[in-house]
Amino acid sequence: MMGQAQDHAQAWRARPVGSAASDIDLVFDRADRPATVTGLLAACVSGADGLAVDADEAWSWSLSQRLQALLAMRVASGEVSLDLQSSCTRCGEAMEVQLDLRDFAGEPASPRFTWHSDDGLELTLRLPNGRDLQRWMQGPLASPASHEALAASLIESVVGVPAGTQPPALSALLPALDDAFEAHDPLTALRLHATCPACAHGNILACDLESMLIDGFARAQVRMLDDVLRLARAFHWSEAEILALPSWRRAHYLSQIDQGSWV
Ligand SMILES: [Zn+2]
Repeated sequence: MMGQAQDHAQAWRARPVGSAASDIDLVFDRADRPATVTGLLAACVSGADGLAVDADEAWSWSLSQRLQALLAMRVASGEVSLDLQSSCTRCGEAMEVQLDLRDFAGEPASPRFTWHSDDGLELTLRLPNGRDLQRWMQGPLASPASHEALAASLIESVVGVPAGTQPPALSALLPALDDAFEAHDPLTALRLHATCPACAHGNILACDLESMLIDGFARAQVRMLDDVLRLARAFHWSEAEILALPSWRRAHYLSQIDQGSWV
């Protein structure tokens, strides 16, 4: 079954944050992560036709596809490693796990999948998309009722309920459904195994890849602004003039400043 997301995955291209002058306008809103991601995708990802993905389309992508596009942006920057800082749950020793993002980059999980319960039900499930996430964030996320509503909105069909019986309560299925989503799309709520260097305890680390990627893009934007500032200070060019320079020329002038020829 070829889903739409897979077609996109083969067709889209991603560029790194910092490679276009307009990246100084990217908005990093900690309070609205879904909108931040959509803004990044609309700015840096283009389709097979070379046209930028529009925000509407980016909202409709599954969380898996949105994460894969962010990973492609980061890999395109050449900065492929990411450090996950944590501490051992048994002895408290600081732990650092270095991830190679190329290990995670690839095809998004298919947007629909089938799951079978132990008692013979067959559920067709869809992965949440950007719009779902935005809607849930606007509602009372923490309540069990909203967790159920969320899960219910991702079930497209149920077959195998014996005639004359009621389908099982959603609340009874939730733990198994959570596991099913995690197995189908392990990256969205990634868990890594890491052995403590001090006590050898096996830890399971939660890894919010999306958040770490966004932080990296925000740092790339800050570096860009810092470069503009250094060039403006040395050469008295305007921000627009500096941003209009191709990046190799900007890099050249910055290296001249670093060498002390222009201070
Ligand atoms: Zn330990």
